Amino acid sequence: MSEDVRTAVGAEADLPAVEVTGLRVTLGGTPILAGVGLSVSAGEWVTVIGPNGAGKSTLLRAVAGLLPADAGSIRLFGTPSTRLSRRERARVVAAVAQSPVVPAGMAVVDYVLLGRTPYIPPFGRESAADLAVVADVLDRLELTRFASRPLATLSGGERQRVFLARALAQGAPLLLLDEPTSALDIGHQQEVLELVDQLRRDDGLTVLATMHDLSVAGEYADRLVLMAGGRVVADGPPREVLVEELLATHYQARVRVIDGDHGPLVVPVRATGRRADRPG
Ligand code: ADP
Ligand code: MG
Repeated sequence: MSEDVRTAVGAEADLPAVEVTGLRVTLGGTPILAGVGLSVSAGEWVTVIGPNGAGKSTLLRAVAGLLPADAGSIRLFGTPSTRLSRRERARVVAAVAQSPVVPAGMAVVDYVLLGRTPYIPPFGRESAADLAVVADVLDRLELTRFASRPLATLSGGERQRVFLARALAQGAPLLLLDEPTSALDIGHQQEVLELVDQLRRDDGLTVLATMHDLSVAGEYADRLVLMAGGRVVADGPPREVLVEELLATHYQARVRVIDGDHGPLVVPVRATGRRADRPG
């Protein structure tokens, strides 16, 4: 974490990056998060898994300060989230939404520059330092050659890297990634996740993500948090969360869990006997 960020949040190095306790969120009159607790250490990678509608995106949006809580608290590096101004929060936490809205016709470089907004004075212009950060991020994500291209003309994988670039340009020590790879083929999926992991090791970033592919989720995260029905139903290392009984209960899925090089691999399997009517 950079000194200015640490000063901005008044944080101590050993405080958790994220500490959520008893979080309740209601949307459109419906309780969506029903008392969620979660802690993420600085430098850790935690991935939230769970069936559609479990509340994963809502949790990330609440941690990003985009949704008000009915009850409970969210602390970022020790500071209650409610005590941070928008600008202060944006220097601490950068989020990539599940389906970011792409401003029509905007060039890649201008989109990534939006990440520097919390550092640009109101009614001011970006500084040479802001442009240098953007150039560096574009370079690290191999996006320099796309800099002047309209975002809409990029492929899904290229665009996903641009979303990540904007978040990284923000220079925040906490990165929230909501299904960062769901639009990507397996090659680009690995490329993006390896890149995030590299940045985590180089820059000491903390990563809180959501992911649908359970094997991939387990390969990259230190810890998995399984959510269902607006609650945390399991929290631990991948080996403890990716177990057949838990997944069968909460996903209504029939899976087999096998040992992989980097942890458990989850394979969906059909019920036995379902192929009996097929010829051959
Ligand atoms: P997940 O990311 O785990 O799939 P979400 O957090 O997106 O789940 O959504 C959790 C639940 O909240 C879903 O049932 C969804 O329909 C509901 N929800 C999300 N946004 C709203 C809203 N603005 N008004 C009412 N319900 C919402
Ligand atoms: Mg979601």
